[in-house]
Amino acid sequence: MSGRVSFVGAGPGAPDLLTVRAVNTLRAADVVVWARSLVDPAILEHARPGAELIASDDRTHEQVVEVYARAAAEGLHVARVHSGDPTVYGALHEQLAACRALGLDVEIVPGVSSVGAAAAALGQELTIPDVSQTLIFTRRPTRTSMPPNEQLVELARHGTTLVLFLSVRRPRELQADLLAGGYVPDTPCAVVYRASWPDEIVVRCPLHELAAEIKRYKITTQALVLVGPALGDAACAGRSHVYDPGYGHRHRPLGRPDRYKKSAADG
Ligand code: SAH
Repeated sequence: MSGRVSFVGAGPGAPDLLTVRAVNTLRAADVVVWARSLVDPAILEHARPGAELIASDDRTHEQVVEVYARAAAEGLHVARVHSGDPTVYGALHEQLAACRALGLDVEIVPGVSSVGAAAAALGQELTIPDVSQTLIFTRRPTRTSMPPNEQLVELARHGTTLVLFLSVRRPRELQADLLAGGYVPDTPCAVVYRASWPDEIVVRCPLHELAAEIKRYKITTQALVLVGPALGDAACAGRSHVYDPGYGHRHRPLGRPDRYKKSAADG
């Protein structure tokens, strides 16, 4: 029997934002490895009684790989729980490589990313026709450097909706980079701290007040910064073509009312 590792997205925090597949995977696992910092312990209630629970946040990559090696030797199923979606800033790449080298079966269970939870907290769509149709997910460099073609000033030049992970620690530099890239000082911004947790904080401000607001709320971690014209007053923005009366498609063809009525009645 070969061992198996499932990388499970635990969602942004609220335990009811776990997917059904994530719950089923947790129920089936012999070992659950999880990071205490961003994953609510309540999700461990889905682990089966007797499953081995291992906190990963005080372990190195190598020490976590030791757990995977044991799974390979003993034919165990490990659920490795990540915050949000595991494929976004999840340190997943090196774990997948290690598991494949050990001959383990690997699987990724997608999760609700903090981006979705932050937009839900804001009550806004991040892509609005004629305002912004592009999302950039990025971060500022810390101990992790950035590829030379992905400097924030360069990305900011596009003026799209920009979502910054892991980037609230140096708010003055963050604001300066966004302004240097060409976002005007009045560009609408939002900061969402611990989206979907009971202590969630939502801050909205123009770009020129971003650093001061992040400091005022003492937000130093576990927050997303969202920037761009789509974060502005939704009433001023464009509307989707798909639901426009003048836009036909397979389920609502234009100029064929009879056929449409028939298929609607049939369906
Ligand atoms: N895989 C995760 C991101 C992990 S990196 C995801 O898909 O969301 C950790 C960073 O994600 C944090 O520093 C913060 O920028 C962001 N983050 C994770 N959970 C968050 C939450 N509930 N609210 C706001 N930001 C969050």
